[in-house]
Amino acid sequence: MNNKNQISGLHHITAICSNPQQNIDFYTKLLGLRLVKVTVNFDDPTTYHLYYGDEMGHPGTILTFFPWIDAPKGHRGTGQAITTSFLVPEKSIDYWKTRLKNNNVCFGGPKKRFEDDQVITLYDPDGLELELIAHSSAKENDERFWKDGPISYENGIRGFYSVSLSEEGYERTSEILNELGYKMIENEGNRFRFQLENSQSTAGAKILDVLCLPYTPHGMIGLGTVHHIAFRTPSDENQKSIRENIINIGLNPTPVIDRTYFHSVYFREPGGVLFEIATDPPGFTLDQKVEDLGERLMLPKWLEPVRERLEKVLPKIDLPKYNKDNSK
Ligand code: ZN
Repeated sequence: MNNKNQISGLHHITAICSNPQQNIDFYTKLLGLRLVKVTVNFDDPTTYHLYYGDEMGHPGTILTFFPWIDAPKGHRGTGQAITTSFLVPEKSIDYWKTRLKNNNVCFGGPKKRFEDDQVITLYDPDGLELELIAHSSAKENDERFWKDGPISYENGIRGFYSVSLSEEGYERTSEILNELGYKMIENEGNRFRFQLENSQSTAGAKILDVLCLPYTPHGMIGLGTVHHIAFRTPSDENQKSIRENIINIGLNPTPVIDRTYFHSVYFREPGGVLFEIATDPPGFTLDQKVEDLGERLMLPKWLEPVRERLEKVLPKIDLPKYNKDNSK
């Protein structure tokens, strides 16, 4: 089976941060995302895994972090996803400029990219490069909003707009992107824009930009860098067929790994970026009700017996409490 139509956009982006509390405060209080899951890194349970997103934690809105407190600072470079871009409503640029200024967050822009993107660039407390992209497609993404968060509906983030990869060249990466259903639609200088071929709209995290930066040093994973990006697929069956096609084109995917909230297959694309294919189900309401998401540390069954020990080792964090009067 062909992969086309089996990927429906970005699922999540995972990055590295230092202090988990600083990270929670920045993404929930300043950017107005919801902390939808607090769990541990299943490969290293003494580290948290924090997930932010919209109210439900829909695929396409999820930014996740491993807080590696003592890790060295990483640096952005080729073979990495270097910029994570959120979609904001078309007329929200002035609001965001004021909000960032009032919170002493340095930013660049707004500047125009391609025809319709208005781009503000900023950095999180660990130096992770982020963009807020104001675009008319935000209105098609209205349900991807955290309505009980600190930012009004007129201005709030609507999930991801895109992600930018830094590559030496774009052709080899382009091949695998084509295989996943993306097609190059335009370029501006060294920025090559890919969009899911089956989609009419750019809403819903369907864009990926490849930046050709052949003279830039290779990226190094560490604080303030992206660890991997995940594409979403509707079912285990779809994932299986995508995995077979990845093998057929000569790449080397992992077996399917159960990440509790989704099932994952990882592989490195030819330019060096770690890609993941993640299933939409079961999702973040698997073990918590929508209104309770992110309010306590959740562990997979096999780690529940050591919960007490883990809670002693993990740094103390204050989890956001929301006004749930309406949902009771
Ligand atoms: Zn992942």
